[in-house]
Amino acid sequence: MVAQASPPCRTAGLRAPVTGQLTTRCDRRRIKWQRPSVVNRVSYPEMLTASGDALSDRDQPLTTAVLCSYQEQTGLVRLQLCACLMLRMTAGVVPLLMDEPGLRVDPLTGAFVVVTPWRQDRPNLPEGGCPFCPGGLEAPRPYDAVWIPNRWPALPDGRHEVILHSPDHGSSFPALGVTGTSRVIELWSARTAELGARADVSYVFVFENRGRAIGATIDHPHSQILAFNLIPPIPRAELSQAACNLCGDLDGRLMVTCHPGWLARVPWAPSWPYELLIFPERHVADLPTAGPRLHAGLAAILVDCLSRVERLFGAAVPYMLWVHQRPTTGQDWPAAHLHLHLAPLLRRPGRIRHLAGAELGAGVFFDPVDPPAAAAQLKTATGPS
Ligand SMILES: [Zn+2]
Ligand SMILES: [Zn+2]
Ligand SMILES: [Zn+2]
Repeated sequence: MVAQASPPCRTAGLRAPVTGQLTTRCDRRRIKWQRPSVVNRVSYPEMLTASGDALSDRDQPLTTAVLCSYQEQTGLVRLQLCACLMLRMTAGVVPLLMDEPGLRVDPLTGAFVVVTPWRQDRPNLPEGGCPFCPGGLEAPRPYDAVWIPNRWPALPDGRHEVILHSPDHGSSFPALGVTGTSRVIELWSARTAELGARADVSYVFVFENRGRAIGATIDHPHSQILAFNLIPPIPRAELSQAACNLCGDLDGRLMVTCHPGWLARVPWAPSWPYELLIFPERHVADLPTAGPRLHAGLAAILVDCLSRVERLFGAAVPYMLWVHQRPTTGQDWPAAHLHLHLAPLLRRPGRIRHLAGAELGAGVFFDPVDPPAAAAQLKTATGPS
């Protein structure tokens, strides 16, 4: 075991999710830890098993780096630094991660990249009208909500799907209401179950990129599913925590709204100024086990949250939405607590928050809005738009 303490991080304003196994003390100005080896349990427990029970002294700076990846709660940082850790572990571990065709790990940064040259030729806007409208190229028959294979898949073997939310080209979750949104969530759940049952799928990742500003090429309301044959680094980092963070004590100042069975709050260390975490009150692992009642509750709170975001930023607000849930490997994942991240792209009305040099090069997000203040704005953003 490595017993010596790592140097404390002294970056003012840095925030860390404090988890059970991590011996951390955080007062917004200083974060201190005593047992660096615990980091392994937090990050990659099975790799710890594969490589022995502790990092060596030689890896001490890396230990520090991995701990820092927890302080920023930025997917990018976690992905890069946790991947660095993987590369430094025994050689036997890396092939496990390389199962995904086209996956490369950047030897400089440890970032995961799936090389997909066939996607380079996909049209920005297909000719001949919207392909997702009923009668269009991808949806020739009438539908309410339907899944289709992605014509330009980022993952092979039918592991990249598109979920069409509504036949109405101009619709949105708030416009669909609870009933229409429930239909989409039922589809997400059914596809999670079906794709997750495949032997070549370890993690079903559901996400929506909404708006041209985030790069959505087709305006028609739709989400996507990537069925990875590995557990991607960001969910893996969340899942590797010793205790469920979402079942822990909540900071009431960050709460925004609740619906039967569901809560929505601003994260303690938001990567995006008005980011929301939406999660069931009970420790439910994934969409399939949530069942129809919680699906309906999720529809209600999702419509509510997006309506609040629209009241703050306008109906065309670009956002990203993604679901984190239990891997489909069949193992026990005690920290798996179903939740959604809703990340509006704006930092104030009309002002896009760009990710640039600091975020992508240093891996540190700077949040210009105090999280309790963001929560307070979202909390009071009720009533007609
Ligand atoms: Zn359309
Ligand atoms: Zn939980
Ligand atoms: Zn998450």
